[in-house]
Amino acid sequence: MSVRERTPGTGNAGIGRQGRRPVTVLVLLGAPGAGKGTQAKVLEEKLGIPHLASGDLLRTAVGARTPVGIEADRFMSRGQLVPDGTMIRVFLDRLAQPDAAGGAVLDGFPRTRPQAEALEEALAQRDARVDRALLIDVPIEDLVKRAAGRRICQSDGHVYHLVANPPRVAGLCDIDGSPLIQREDDREETVRARMTQQLGALRDVVGYYDSKGILTRVDGRRSISEVSDALLAAAADPAKRAV
Ligand code: AMP
Repeated sequence: MSVRERTPGTGNAGIGRQGRRPVTVLVLLGAPGAGKGTQAKVLEEKLGIPHLASGDLLRTAVGARTPVGIEADRFMSRGQLVPDGTMIRVFLDRLAQPDAAGGAVLDGFPRTRPQAEALEEALAQRDARVDRALLIDVPIEDLVKRAAGRRICQSDGHVYHLVANPPRVAGLCDIDGSPLIQREDDREETVRARMTQQLGALRDVVGYYDSKGILTRVDGRRSISEVSDALLAAAADPAKRAV
């Protein structure tokens, strides 16, 4: 396990602020649709540290119509990244909450190099750091195929896949019988546009952690449990940092 003993911080909440208990910070990286959310939940459960998803934080703010939510909505609705200043503030505030004192699985943040640098700085102030960056690697063509086959039940959002997880009766939800629809977000043109917008920034972040010697690439085309096993093994491998 890559957890290390840390010296006590000065405050009483957030990462590194709880005395000499181990802290584990994992960054989960991958293109939209690579399976970060699914795997983050597995890591959360197995490692006992919370899963913090930047997209969820923003969607909550949008739903509550807070000033951050109103600003974020303008970018999210166009599939664009929310500006770094806002995103860094929102995410680091969340990371400073007491439930993340023993560490966290970061999903969707950092998405740009300035975000990665801000995270490093904030953690350093708390005598903590990113232990591992885990890249779930899936080729774009596979992501487009995955999204194109995804169907969501209209009433409650239960998720199916025409090939990987088809419903018993075509077009209808197994659980509540409601019609299955394709989300606008999953249409091929939308998926390709989103990839083009976001992959450049992802490459920067991957390069950033690679240069520090803490990046592990996992083949995301394997089954969910095989990917989980590979991620857990990497998380348990002590990082040899270049910097
Ligand atoms: P996600 O649920 O991770 O796909 O995020 C949904 C949307 O929220 C993204 O398409 C972006 O508009 C925005 N978003 C999430 N995380 C970030 C981030 N770290 N930086 C900038 N924008 C973000």
